[in-house]
Order: sequence, then structure tokens, then C-alpha cells
Amino acid sequence: MKTIEHWINGTATTAGSTRTAPVYDPAAGRPRSEVLLAEPSDVDTAVAAAGKAFETWDDSSLSQRTKVMFAFRELLVRHEDELAGIISSEHGKVLDDARGEIVRGREIVEYACGIADALKGGFSDQVSRDVDVHSFRQPLGVVAGITPFNFPIMVPLWMHPIAIATGNTFVLKPSERVPSASRLVAELYAEAGLPDGVFNVVNGDKVAVDAILDHPGIAAVSFVGSTPIAKYVHERATATGKRVQALGGAKNHAVVLPDADLEYAANHLTAAAFGSAGQRCMAISIGVAVGSAGDELVEILKRKATEIKVGPGHEDGNDMGPVVTQAARERVIGSVALGAEQGATVVVDGRELRVDGHPEGFFVGPSLLDHVTPEMSAYREEIFGPVLGIVRVSTVDEAIALINANPYGNGTAIFTGGGEAARRFQREVKVGMIGVNVPIPVPMSYYSFGGWKDSLIGDSPIHGPEGVRFYTRAKVVTTRWPHSAAGFNFPTSS
Ligand code: NAD
Repeated sequence: MKTIEHWINGTATTAGSTRTAPVYDPAAGRPRSEVLLAEPSDVDTAVAAAGKAFETWDDSSLSQRTKVMFAFRELLVRHEDELAGIISSEHGKVLDDARGEIVRGREIVEYACGIADALKGGFSDQVSRDVDVHSFRQPLGVVAGITPFNFPIMVPLWMHPIAIATGNTFVLKPSERVPSASRLVAELYAEAGLPDGVFNVVNGDKVAVDAILDHPGIAAVSFVGSTPIAKYVHERATATGKRVQALGGAKNHAVVLPDADLEYAANHLTAAAFGSAGQRCMAISIGVAVGSAGDELVEILKRKATEIKVGPGHEDGNDMGPVVTQAARERVIGSVALGAEQGATVVVDGRELRVDGHPEGFFVGPSLLDHVTPEMSAYREEIFGPVLGIVRVSTVDEAIALINANPYGNGTAIFTGGGEAARRFQREVKVGMIGVNVPIPVPMSYYSFGGWKDSLIGDSPIHGPEGVRFYTRAKVVTTRWPHSAAGFNFPTSS
């Protein structure tokens, strides 16, 4: 069986690792390869390589860094099919969906191609007689990224292009369930002309994560994953003085008003709830039907959910692939069962779905639960699978109050034909990313991505201008030419 190694200092290596974990093909339900799990000494090796590379990368010109990013962007385009195949084989998502995440990730590289503009400092002329002030930003050093399984390429791309373009060197610890995409990315960076040691991949589990969090040679950690681990990462890494951005889980609500085009809303809700088998941090897992919208909305959703074609992600014509592991499949099935037990109406039941020719695959069909209430587990838990719950409310205000009482605040959407409710919704809802008739409002690369409340621990959203800020720190320089006599009073302008 193939063993997926680390990538340190421009080369594939086992370093000192001996432990491994199986990497599954979720459609077959069987391991397709194994991945090395790093020991703390392997993290040391990667950090040492990145630290050495920083000495020169830090000094590289903006045009040199930009040139690498342009070349890397072209290689991502050229290798799109190969990357999509790798993603689908380890994650399970359909190829079109995998291509979608590559395109959205590539947009971050395009933003990084314009880093010269994003890094411009400020200049104030003549703040005092013969005195000017200017500010500029410098990289932090060696920074690390720890990423989840559900976007094997896009989420790491939220981090490393900006970190590297701003002059840092990077150590990535991808999810051990989907390690292969990061390996190809490392090779593409090398082909693009990135010097050895600037981008490193260390595969591993909690042992590697803890070594990163505690490592004195790492200046900052970017984390994306579930909320409990985001809290853990934030607490442990800030305790050792690191800058941390930690994005957590979600329970995203889409509110549907009676004045919405219900066919349009149901169409988008179906794609947003069941696309990628519901394993997106911006997936809609709760539909909030306002007033008379409820019955008709549920009828259309039922029709659409039943029409979804489930099968292996690499086979043409499938809308939805398997979930990532057998444990995830069992969690989804258990959530639907618990929903029924606690009083929800199971309108579409995906629990018994079987896919011909793939008896051991981690498949589970779309499930639609109606009359979900906030006390039920199906409402409170992040199921992270193809389950859409419908909560019925009477007014927009009730919908807003429901969302605001939820501990998560990643994304939300409103479907309506009227601007008044949409405007009130976007002003009052306590959520970081909002869609108006757009179900998955993932911001473009030149904005930043980040939720509120338990969906973002700490205060730093990811990529875009916030990414540039996160991976750099500011200097402010006050200059006077020529020299004149110093006074003993505190400096003020004159
Ligand atoms: P996860 O939290 O289990 O794992 C994320 C990373 O943390 C992985 O690299 C993993 O190896 C590591 N990890 C796992 N357990 C650990 C532990 N006990 N100690 C130290 N490190 C540990 O998340 P996942 O299952 O890979 O991904 C799904 C989760 O990620 C969902 O909750 C989803 O909402 C969230 N997510 C959030 C966003 C966002 O932008 N907010 C984006 C994508 C995914």
C-alpha cells in the first residue's frame, strides 16, 4: 500500500515517523493508502527548515514573491483535473464540487498575486516641522496551518498563499484523512520556483498538532476545524505567545419568507444542504420557514431531496458522494433516528440508502426533517452530514431571535422578494457571513472569511485583508532630516 510522506525542505521524506493511519476511499469503504503520522521531532525538522528558509525568503523582493504566485496559479489551473481526482478519491465529493473548491482556493492565490498592493504602507508628510512618518508591515517568521478534512485544498489555500506572499515560511498539517492534495500542492510550489523550505507539509494527528502549538519556533497558527478543537488550539497556542486564528464549526440557518420564490429558494437550499454530503462549514443545515411558506417549501424540498443522485464522486451524473468515514455515516444515521424519537417528522429518510456495487461505501442519503425545534439534538448538534431540518416560525423577528440565540454564527441566508426584511435581517443577525437570496455566502478572496460566536475563536478572520494583517506586523517610523536639538518634553507636533 502506498505511504504518503511529509514534504520538508523541498523533498518528500519519512523523517523520523513510523506510525501510520489508513487513508480511506469513502466510496469503496476501504483504505487506499496510508499516511505517516509525525512525531514532535519531525515537526522540529520542518520548523528548522522553514526557519532557515525564512532568512532569505524574508529578504526576497515583492516581485520575486509575486512571480512565484503567478506561476503557482497557472500550475493549479493546469493540474485542476488531477487535483479534483485526488480530492474526490479521499474525501468522496463529486468531481464538479472538487473543481469548485479548487477554483475558490485559486482565487486566494490570485489575491496573493496582488500582494504588492495589499502590503502598501502609509506615509504622512510633515507631521511636525521637518518630520515625516511612515508605516509598513513585515512577516512574522515561520507560521503554521492546521486544516480540516472537508476542503482538502481550498482551506489550506486560505492560508499559505497569503502567508508566503507576505514573506513568511509555512508548515502545513493537513487533515490526516485527506493528505494527498497537499503533497501535490507542495510539488507545484516547487515547480513554480518557490525556494526549498518555504512551504512544508507535515502529516499527522494530535501529536503533530500539539508539537506545533507548543513549538517556540512558530510565530502564528491558523486553524480551521471543529469548535472544540478550535478552542483547544486557541488556548494552547496563545499560551505560548503565538498569534492564532481559529475558525470553528457551524449550524447555518436559511430563512425563507412567504414572499420568496419558493421554487428558487428550495432549489438553493437543496444544493446548500446536501452538496458535498452536507460536509461544508457553510452548508445550510437548518431551514427556517416563516409563516405560510412552510408547507409548500417542505413539499418542494421533499421532491428535490428525493431526486438527488447519490454515488461515487468520480462517476458522472452523481450529485452527492459518500460521507468521509463510517463513523460519520453512523453519526448521521443516529441523528436522524434521534430527531424522529424527539418528535421531528422524517419527510425524507436517507438512512437506508444503498449504492449498487458499493456495499461497503460510506453512503447515506439526504434526509429532511420537518417540525424541528431548538431543544432537539438535530437542531443543537453540528451533524455535518446530509440532513436538513426545518424549523417553523411565525415572523422574521422570531427567525432572527432564533439565529441569534444559536451558539454558532458562521453563515446565514434570507430568501425574500422584499428589501425591507432583507435589510433588517442583515443588520440585526449576529452572524459573520450573510446571503440575501444566496445560500452559501462565502466571501470573495478580497474580503475576509470568518464567522461570529463559536464559529470563530479569537478575533481574526481568514484570508483577504485580514489575512495580510494576520501574517504581518506593523512598524511605524518617524523621521527627521536633518538633525536638530532635542528637547526634554514628550514629543508633540509643532
Ligand atoms: P477536526 O476539528 O476534527 O480536525 C481539524 C484538524 O484538527 C485536523 O487537522 C485534525 O488532525 C486536528 N485534530 C483533530 N482532533 C484533534 C485533537 N484532539 N487535538 C489536536 N488536533 C486535532 O475537524 P474535521 O472533522 O476535520 O472537519 C470538520 C469540522 O471543521 C466541522 O466542524 C466544520 O464545521 C469545520 N470547518 C469549519 C470551517 C470554517 O471556516 N469555519 C471550514 C471548514 C470546516
